[in-house]
Formats: sequence, structure tokens, C-alpha cells
Amino acid sequence: MSGEVKVRFAPSPTGPLHIGGARSALFNWLFARRYGGKFVVRIEDTDLERSSRESEENIVSSLRWLGLDWDEGIDVGGPGGPYRQTERLDLYKRYAEQLLANGMAYRCYCSEDELAAQRESQLAAGDMVRYTGKCRDLTPEDCARLEGEGRKPVIRFRVPADKLITVRDKVRGDVNFDCAGIGDFIIVKSDGIPTYNFAVVVDDHFMGITHVMRAEEHLSNTPLQVLLYEALGWPVPAFAHVSLILGKDRSKMSKRHGATSIEQYRELGYLPEALVNFLALLGWSPGTEDEVLTLEQLQEQFSLERVSKSPAVFDLEKLNWLNGYY
Ligand code: GLU
Repeated sequence: MSGEVKVRFAPSPTGPLHIGGARSALFNWLFARRYGGKFVVRIEDTDLERSSRESEENIVSSLRWLGLDWDEGIDVGGPGGPYRQTERLDLYKRYAEQLLANGMAYRCYCSEDELAAQRESQLAAGDMVRYTGKCRDLTPEDCARLEGEGRKPVIRFRVPADKLITVRDKVRGDVNFDCAGIGDFIIVKSDGIPTYNFAVVVDDHFMGITHVMRAEEHLSNTPLQVLLYEALGWPVPAFAHVSLILGKDRSKMSKRHGATSIEQYRELGYLPEALVNFLALLGWSPGTEDEVLTLEQLQEQFSLERVSKSPAVFDLEKLNWLNGYY
């Protein structure tokens, strides 16, 4: 690995730290420690209704209990702060205004009902469902009139129709996305709060993140983020999307397969060492038969090359076995 490494874990505080989130945090932590880089913890609390301080505290204390520490971020501070997105709204506003000023974004006044009607007619016509671009060419006079009617706009990013985006993923290889399938997406909601895709790009840029490692469910958001990096003239970080965690029956991991939050395992008396060892093997392997690996051994051995593309299988018996071993 050449150059400085800086990675982050960016949880949304909408519930306790769960197995999947803890695995993302651990992989990022291991990667930073392996390459002498920095690990940042940022709280993505832009979903005002679902976010809570209680969840944030649960996430922070669960990370600490697992033995993961961070060089910058919530509680710890650092040069890239503040580390809670709701405390960074001015920054997002500045860059949304820049995109508006250079025509890469526009104000959209379509109401929920109008959007629903647009979707219905697209479905009826057998067309792809996405924003129609109705407000793309509004003049300042149109905007003033609509605002006079009491409408509050969202800000949408103008997606170029004839473009292919290649996401160079360190786990999945090159993944291509056709912009024709991406409608002009919202970057700032009508209450002035940025959407996830916009805030994450601004933050990862200003926090100097070199590698974005996160769950596979975000792979489809990545072309939107790449478009934003390009529009803002910022370098695109490396991406690595880690596979889903499935139960032994191959359905998505849920309560049926075992406790889902770190707090529950802590309360059940599991040892953090066993849990860390277990989480590391959910989608990564050392390439040897060794199954018992301490945090120190893991940080010496972790590499993106050995992160698997196929889903990880959650096996409670294995966790119990490891817990008995420690
Ligand atoms: N806040 C997002 C989540 O919890 C983070 C996604 C990302 O790492 O970019 O899913």
C-alpha cells in the first residue's frame, strides 16, 4: 500500500450497533492499523426522525467494548470536525450552492402527489421509474412564482443521461452503471438537510478519506457519489464493498439467527476478543487454517485482497466455539 491511508466508520445512529456495522468498523480499523493509517468515526445523523443520542452512545460504547479506538471523530475530536453531520450543515449548504450556481444542480418544486403521479404514468407506460426532470429548466421567475405559492424546493443533482460510471471496487472489481438509469437525485431536502449521498461525499472529501469500505448495500449509491465527486472536482476515493451477512439458511441475517446487536452479546457474557475474532472471519480469511486470531494478529494480517465477494455466513456455533476458546 503506497501513500497515507485514512478510513472511516460512518454509522447512522438509528439503533444499536449491530453485527454488520461492527464488522464494517472492524475491517476499517484493521486496515488503518495494518497500514499505519488513520481511522475516523463520524456520526451520520441526517435522518432527524430516526436518529437519537441514545443510539449514538450505544454505538460508541460498543465500539470501545470491542477494543476499537479511533484517531479522529466523535468524542475524540480532530482537525476534520465536527463529526456529527447535523453540526456540519453550513458546509453542505456551501457546496450545494456551488452546484446550483454552475448549473449542475437545480431547485425542484414537485410535490409528493406530483411525483407519485409521474411515477404512475411511467409505470403505466412501461418506462423506467425515475424523476422526469420536470423542473430542470425552470427560470428564476418560475422559481419565484412557485415559492410565492408556498412551495419549498428540494435541490436535485442534474445527472448526465449519456454517461457510464465505472466504480473501481477493491473487492468486486470494476462495476459499471449506466446514468440513463439514474434519475436526477435529491441532494438537499426541502428542510435544508442534505441527503446521505451528498453529505457523505462532502465529508469523505474534507476528512481526507482515501478508502471507503462499507456494506454491499451501498454499492448502488456509489455511482451517485462518483458523479458528485466529479461535479465538485474532487478526487474519487477507493471503494471496497463488503458482502452481505446471511444466516445459515442463506436468508438475510436477522434475529432468527442469533442476537443482532453487540450490546446483546455483551449482556449475554460473550468476550469481546471472541466477537472480534468472529467478526473478522465474516467475509475475510487469513488464507490459512487458523481460526483463532487475536486483534494483534488480525491487524498484522488483514488485507483487502482476502475480503470475499461472496456473502458471509453467520454461524452462531462458531462464535460459541471461539468464545469457549478465549
Ligand atoms: N450512514 C451509512 C450507514 O450507516 C454509512 C454508509 C457509508 O459508509 O457510506 O449505512
